[in-house]
Amino acid sequence: MMDAHALLFEEPLLWEMGAPGRSAFSMPERDVPEHPLEPALVGDYPDFPDLSEPEIVRHYTRLSQWNMSVDTTMYPLGSCTMKYNPKTNERQAALPGIARAHPLLPTELSQGLLRLMFELERLLAEITGLDAGSLQPAAGAQGELAGMLIFYAHHADQGRPRTKILIPDTAHGTNPASAALCGFTAVAVPSGPEGILEPDAVAARMDDDTAGIMVTNPNTLGLFETHIRQVADLVHAKGGLVYADGANMNAVLGQVHMGAMGVDVLHLNLHKTFSTPHGGGGPGAGPVCVTQALARYLPVPRVLKVDDHFTLGSDFPQSIGKLHAFYGNFGILARAYSYILSLGADLPRVSQLAVLNANYLRAGLRNHYHLPYDRPCMHECVFSDKHQLPHKVTTLDIAKRLIDYGFHPPTIYFPLVVPGALMIEPTETETKETLDRFIAALVSIAREAETDPERLRQAPLRAQRRRLDEVQAARKPCLTG
Ligand SMILES: *Cc1c(COP(=O)(O)O)cnc(C)c1O
Repeated sequence: MMDAHALLFEEPLLWEMGAPGRSAFSMPERDVPEHPLEPALVGDYPDFPDLSEPEIVRHYTRLSQWNMSVDTTMYPLGSCTMKYNPKTNERQAALPGIARAHPLLPTELSQGLLRLMFELERLLAEITGLDAGSLQPAAGAQGELAGMLIFYAHHADQGRPRTKILIPDTAHGTNPASAALCGFTAVAVPSGPEGILEPDAVAARMDDDTAGIMVTNPNTLGLFETHIRQVADLVHAKGGLVYADGANMNAVLGQVHMGAMGVDVLHLNLHKTFSTPHGGGGPGAGPVCVTQALARYLPVPRVLKVDDHFTLGSDFPQSIGKLHAFYGNFGILARAYSYILSLGADLPRVSQLAVLNANYLRAGLRNHYHLPYDRPCMHECVFSDKHQLPHKVTTLDIAKRLIDYGFHPPTIYFPLVVPGALMIEPTETETKETLDRFIAALVSIAREAETDPERLRQAPLRAQRRRLDEVQAARKPCLTG
């Protein structure tokens, strides 16, 4: 059971270890009479394994070493912006005054924390070119929901709620889901041959029953929506609003002014662009920024500054209400604040390097992998398995083989407009040496597809596990061992 490959242990389940009666702690002698449990309770007693303390500590420590993370390797998961998170942000967020602050502290005793939130809102508004914001949403998708509720409230106030939202076919799946959660019908807008929106396609669908459009810019093909201003004007002319999914903001920090592009509402993913560890399901933060005209709908409570004093205000009768307990995931806000202040005026350089790195990969790989939209990209580039398919090698095989080279696979089979997509986002924090190693790995995989496709189809060959049944794991997870 305890197979080992050098010092790499094959790890059994906790239930396969230990021995009956073994325990990780000793209880003091009982000084009260024994009392049997109610029979009803005994039936529900969970099946805890009997383990010693070192067994438990070693089990979890070994498992933690199986993890792949941005701290161990390049993690080029397109759209997710898995960039390295500077440790100074962790240090600031762990300061006792921040980490141990209680959300019920009276405002007089939490002036510093309120100031942090107030200033972060201002910084995010300035970075996006919008006027006001709320830090409350806990994820990008919840920011989208806030945005859709604001769209709804705006149209309801105009005396005529609208029922549809335009969403390009390159959109992240959360966009139509958030619109639907708000009761809107999502209307797909096909992107043009260049992989971006064409104003005519928007004009053909925009009517006075359509609340607006949700656009990601740069879009999930890693391409900048160059017609965005024209698209925004078309939508505004019909009384609609423009939502920008700002999850890809890492490409354009300090480079574009979303307000000037005609955006009315936008969410940011602090856990992507603003350097918070993520993956594994959270926590995150998806602040929403709006124009002055829509600020009255923002979630409450809002952080206000009166003279030199910070307070929390809930007296906003047109607000969409509360979206999260207290003020959102404060620890994430502290990390983003630290990240922005520590970079200061260098923030735009983040995006310059992110775009440069993505284009370096694009140029290094375009002779080996099919590039459906062969033009300069922003922070990510999308290839496909078209050149490998004749050898019966697919995107999944390529992704699995990358694991053998020590890289996390990129995002695959997304966006849906590219069959067999390999969506690569290197981020700004990778060195040229790492990018060169990544290119060399993918070039050698492309060669292997021609010379030994059978072997490639069995990848990963050097990982702890081979091909898992991912569908079964997602649909019928076995959580009890
Ligand atoms: C990640 C992402 C989202 C959703 O953000 P979550 O924080 O995962 O809810 C939305 N849109 C795009 C383009 C994304 O990359």
